[in-house]
Amino acid sequence: MTEIPYKIYLEESEMPTQWYNVRADMKNKPAPLLNPATLKPITFDELRPVFCDELIKQELDDETAYFDIPTEIRDFYKMYRPSPLVRAYCLEKKLGTPAKIYYKFEGSNTSGSHKLNSAIAQAYYAKNQGLKGVTTETGAGQWGTALSMACSYLGLDCRVYMVKCSYEQKPFRREVMRTYGANVTPSPSETTEVGRRILAEFPGTSGSLGCAISEAVEAAESMEGYRYVLGSVLNQVLLHQSIIGLETKIALDKYDIKPDIIIGCAGGGSNLGGLISPFVGEQLRGEAEYQFIAVEPASCPSLTRGRFGYDYCDTGKVCPLAKMYTLGSGFIPSASHAGGLRYHGMNSVLSQLHHDGIMEARAVEQTSVFEAAVEFARVEGILPAPESSHAIRVAIDEAMKCKETGEEKTIVFGLTGTGYFDMYAYEKYNNGVMSDYIPTDEEIARGVAGMPNVE
Ligand SMILES: *Cc1c(COP(=O)(O)O)cnc(C)c1O
Repeated sequence: MTEIPYKIYLEESEMPTQWYNVRADMKNKPAPLLNPATLKPITFDELRPVFCDELIKQELDDETAYFDIPTEIRDFYKMYRPSPLVRAYCLEKKLGTPAKIYYKFEGSNTSGSHKLNSAIAQAYYAKNQGLKGVTTETGAGQWGTALSMACSYLGLDCRVYMVKCSYEQKPFRREVMRTYGANVTPSPSETTEVGRRILAEFPGTSGSLGCAISEAVEAAESMEGYRYVLGSVLNQVLLHQSIIGLETKIALDKYDIKPDIIIGCAGGGSNLGGLISPFVGEQLRGEAEYQFIAVEPASCPSLTRGRFGYDYCDTGKVCPLAKMYTLGSGFIPSASHAGGLRYHGMNSVLSQLHHDGIMEARAVEQTSVFEAAVEFARVEGILPAPESSHAIRVAIDEAMKCKETGEEKTIVFGLTGTGYFDMYAYEKYNNGVMSDYIPTDEEIARGVAGMPNVE
């Protein structure tokens, strides 16, 4: 058998030329988005004031399996893709596990995460439509950074609403965005009606992705030539992120490797959805079987403790409703350090897959996540993002189970990004003062009680 290298790199020419839409292979399609005013399935025309035309088509298409990646986007991808699939030999050795561990590393671009894969696509379609600029929200800052990079590359204006606690915790992220020419506002802010309303109701709030989304949507609708773009949660984002899974599959196939377990962290679900899509597709078509595991923070446990039903995607209730696992759009998670995972809901494709028993979910606590992050960093070299470290935690847990049973399972996980802007969080961990906040059953019940009464 051929020796598997530490890093499996693909040639530029091996990079996929199409994105894969897993919805095409789903028998139980995700439920349609609903118009918040009429509660009827939302139409292309109703979405046009908010989103770019081409992206709406992708959002609403449950049938087309493959979408061509435009040449301009592929050219941008070539700056940092194909990304490596790494065999974690050093981690395996350290753990003393018979398991074989691989990770797909998406952190080798300046934005430091997988978010750039969708940012460039969304900015490209906005530019193609002749728009002046885009508005968005950012939690941890990775999406805002990615979008700033994509917009500056294409000459589009970029307005970012950044969740206030991240804005304060991560001033350097903010400066990277400004360096790439973006305009950054802490959210909730006084610059929008919805921001003023939220501030009046919850003075001193540290903000949430749900609030920032409402503000960015309002800003887009009130400015001529602007549209709103979103870095996660939506099906179009999952589609763009399928490049992660497609490349992973090509790399594995090259060496005839068949994964048993595929693991990803889940905030809004885009990296996990992108990573598992091609494999889920195989399973849905009856060609293979895998174990898929979504990992979420115990502080924001939408899949493991939320309810499956229609909910608002934002706190201000201006966005369409999606059927998903949710903690309720009014749920404001505690200020954890995995900012990119602080979202009350979950992408509707992943929600449906979880509901149908195809994908399982686990919630993990913050200190155990950082313990895994440090263990990983010390042997594999890469300093992981707190979000990504959720996947590392469960990959290590699964590898340790193999150590007990002697099973030589093949584990693949998504390493979504680097944590250089998260050193405040690492400092807390290193000083032994990191806390684990887990919402009570009452808090969860209060959150889901705010869900709209829609079947
Ligand atoms: C945003 C982000 C996530 C979570 O977002 P998903 O849409 O669930 O993928 C995970 N890791 C990193 C590094 C991020 O920036």
